[in-house]
Amino acid sequence: MRAFLCVKLAVAFAWGLAALPLPLPAQTVERAPVTVVRAAHLLDVREGRHLDDVAVVIAGGEVQSIVVGGPVPRGDELIDLGDATLLPGLIDVHTHLLHEYDRARGDDLDNSIREIVGMRGADRALLGARNARDMLEAGFTTVRDLGNAGVNNDVALRDAIAEGWVAGPRMFVSTRALSPIGGQFQGLAEVARPLVEREYAQIDGPEQGRRAVRQAIHDGADWIKVIVNSGRQMLSPTEMEAIVDEAHRAGVRVAAHATKGDRAAMIAARAGVDSIEHGYTISDEVLAVMLRKGITLVPTDSGTAEHHKARIRRAVAAGVRIAIGSDAYHKVDGLTRGGVAARIYPRYVAAGMSNLDVLRSATLVPGELLVPDHPLGTIAPGARADLIAVRGNPLDDIGVLERVDFVMKDGSTVLNRLAGGPGSASP
Ligand SMILES: [Zn+2]
Repeated sequence: MRAFLCVKLAVAFAWGLAALPLPLPAQTVERAPVTVVRAAHLLDVREGRHLDDVAVVIAGGEVQSIVVGGPVPRGDELIDLGDATLLPGLIDVHTHLLHEYDRARGDDLDNSIREIVGMRGADRALLGARNARDMLEAGFTTVRDLGNAGVNNDVALRDAIAEGWVAGPRMFVSTRALSPIGGQFQGLAEVARPLVEREYAQIDGPEQGRRAVRQAIHDGADWIKVIVNSGRQMLSPTEMEAIVDEAHRAGVRVAAHATKGDRAAMIAARAGVDSIEHGYTISDEVLAVMLRKGITLVPTDSGTAEHHKARIRRAVAAGVRIAIGSDAYHKVDGLTRGGVAARIYPRYVAAGMSNLDVLRSATLVPGELLVPDHPLGTIAPGARADLIAVRGNPLDDIGVLERVDFVMKDGSTVLNRLAGGPGSASP
C-alpha cells in the first residue's frame, strides 16, 4: 500500500512539473526545413488538368505551395524527379493488412482457423507490418483497414506506424467487425464457436449493437465495420439503425459489408451508413438512397463479371461517389501486398470509368470519405505532403499506377527510383 502511495505521489509530482510554465530557450523555436519536389508534370486530380514544370514546396509534413513554371523555389532540400508525373498518394479504403490466406494451405475455413488458432496477436501485427511497408512502397500512403485483424491488433499497428516504429501508410482501423451470430464463419462445430469472438463482435439485438460500437470505440476504432449479411443471416433495420446512431453520436463513421442481393445494402443505406462495401448486385433503387444520403460505394472488384462491371457504370451514371478498395488478403506469388492492391485500377477502366475518375476514386474521393474536413488525397496547400510519381501519363495508361517510382508520406521520402536529375534525394 505504501509503495502504491509513493508511486501516486511521484506521478502527481511529475504532472506538477509538466504543468509548470517553463520558458523555452530561443533556439527551440526553429522553422521547419523546406523540401522542394520538382517534376515535369503534376496531375491535378480535382480539376482534371496537367500542370507542367511544377515545384511542390513542403514544410512540416504539409504542402505549402505549388509553383508552376518559372524558377524553382529555394529550399533546404531539392528532390528533382525529372520527367515524371506527380500524383497524390494512393488511398486504399478496404484493406486487411493483418490477414493473409494462402490457397496452398487449404480453403477459406482452413486458412481462417490457422490464422486464429495458430497466430498470436504479435504475429498478426508483424504480418501487418510487412504488408504495411509493402503497401507504402507501392504508393499507398493511407489505408482504411476493415477488420480481420484479431482483437485490436490493427490498433497496435496503426499506432506503431504513427509513432514511426515501423513504415506504413496512415491507417484508419475498425477493430473487430460487428456481425450476426457466427461472424463470417459457416458451419463451425460447437467446440469452435468461442473462436468467432476473436475476429468478430457478434450482435443479437439493437442494444448489443450499441454496446459493440461503444466497445470498438473504447478499443481504439476510427471506423465501425459491420457485416450486414453473412450466410443466411442478416442484421435487422433496428440493429443497423442502433449501430449507426451510436457510432455517429461519437463522431465515428460506419462501413457496411453488403453482398448477395439488395436487401442488406438497402438496410444499410436506409440506416445511414457512410460507405457500402462490395455491393456487387446493388440496385438502382439502393443507389438512389445512397446518392440522397451521400453514401460512398466501395467496390472491391477482383473479377471481370459483366454484372459487376454494369453496376459500376450504373453507380457512375447515378452520381454515387466511388472510392476504390482492394480487399486484398490472398497471397499471390511474385507480388507484394502492395503489388496486389495496385492491380485493381485497370478493372475499373475496363468497367467503363474514365482514367481521371479512377484516379479520383483512388485519391480524392477516399480522402474526403476518411477526413471530410481536411484535404487528403489531393496535392494542395494545407494538405498532407503525400505524393507519388510515375513515369508516363496515367490519363493514357492507368497501368502506370502499378509501377510507382517515388513515394513521399508526410513530407518524408519513402522511395525514389527516379535518380539522375540534379538534386535527386537518393538513388
Ligand atoms: Zn473485406
